[in-house]
Amino acid sequence: ERRQALFCLDLDNFKAVNDTLGHPTGDALLCVIAERLRGFAGDGLVARLGGDEFAMLVDDAHRSFNRSAAELVQLVARPCTVNGHRIVPGTSVGIAILGADGPDPVELSKNADLALYRAKQEGRGGFRFFEPRMDAEAQKRRQMELDLHDAIRLGQLSLMFQPLFDLSAGRISAFEALLRWHHPVRGLVSPVDFIPLAEDTGLIIPIGEWVIREACRVARTWPQHVRIAVNVSPVQFGHVGLKSVILQALAETGLAPNRLELEITESLFIENPEATLASLHSLRALGVRVALDDFGTGYSSLSYLRSFPFDKIKIDRSFIIDLLNSKGATAIIKSITTLAEALGMETTAEGVESAGQLDILRQQGCSHIQGYYFSRPIVETAVTEMLAS
Ligand code: C2E
Ligand code: CA
Ligand code: CA
Ligand code: CA
Repeated sequence: ERRQALFCLDLDNFKAVNDTLGHPTGDALLCVIAERLRGFAGDGLVARLGGDEFAMLVDDAHRSFNRSAAELVQLVARPCTVNGHRIVPGTSVGIAILGADGPDPVELSKNADLALYRAKQEGRGGFRFFEPRMDAEAQKRRQMELDLHDAIRLGQLSLMFQPLFDLSAGRISAFEALLRWHHPVRGLVSPVDFIPLAEDTGLIIPIGEWVIREACRVARTWPQHVRIAVNVSPVQFGHVGLKSVILQALAETGLAPNRLELEITESLFIENPEATLASLHSLRALGVRVALDDFGTGYSSLSYLRSFPFDKIKIDRSFIIDLLNSKGATAIIKSITTLAEALGMETTAEGVESAGQLDILRQQGCSHIQGYYFSRPIVETAVTEMLAS
């Protein structure tokens, strides 16, 4: 007896293609994909669910669903030329098996969708089969979402501040604002856990706005040479309101623009390089500083340094962790600091935890350090004390 499974697909980079190359190219790409899916499904059913999502009913006549899914991901990812543009598509796939994972079509598609959601979360080009626990996780997530919605209004968000130490001047040059959520039931929720949720739901826009205003308000009372660094999520960065939020926060607090440093990550350049460059230049025109965060974790990082004059490069903690037991890590730090210096950019090593690491970083020409060795993130009042001592 043949089994059947519902495969739900969501294209990974469709939005980027559509935004940068235009709707006609986006539409043409969807046709190419639909054609591939039809070929794959044979006499099975293929439907477009809207946007860049597709559903397929597949049977296991000749191969396991596992193999089918792997082949499907590869098939969709084959490069193609659309309207003269060479595109490498990608897709994530969620799978639910008819009968086992849903007696009726509604249940089945809901479960395939949950699996798809997990596949997308785990990165591009992956597939996941539905598992019953995904249901409970989705429920927990919905509750978190509802709670996060009220977090600003209920005063559950706060900022911690971690100093960046200037090695040659021998003093603190800045503090990085790090967001905290005090959840009434769950306690302290890490930004690693709720920022992605805030990004998915769009809540990062009001939350990010709150962070910028709060950071500027706190930094206003610090000595002139001490800056405030604020993390800006890619979602927030792509939002049209960012510039005016920054302008308003600066105007309200009277903070000099060059005392505000925005930390952005390389992922912005992968998603949408042209728009990112345009936004960076328009933010720079306000007089604010821009730092490249988590440097070295993306791929082909060097090309971004050529395209925009960052004020600072923050070397990712993973390189610092390796310093004491790998000669290679030391060589990488050396090459980053040499390059940064040639380009007129500062370097900050993140996550420095020991004197041994600090010694190497100093020797290799790193200009600033940040990490538990110098100080953990601290509350606003402790910053005032630290700056006074
Ligand atoms: P990040 O920007 O890379 O921030 C540095 C993280 O490393 C912070 O974690 C900090 O507490 C931690 N850290 C600093 N020194 C050390 C060290 O010596 N050892 C170790 N093991 N860790 C160290 P945190 O505060 O949990 O923040 C995690 C991430 O959440 C941040 O990574 C940033 O990407 C994001 N985040 C935090 N606040 C905001 C925010 O206001 N907006 C946005 N969009 N993202 C934020
Ligand atoms: Ca998509
Ligand atoms: Ca950061
Ligand atoms: Ca970082």
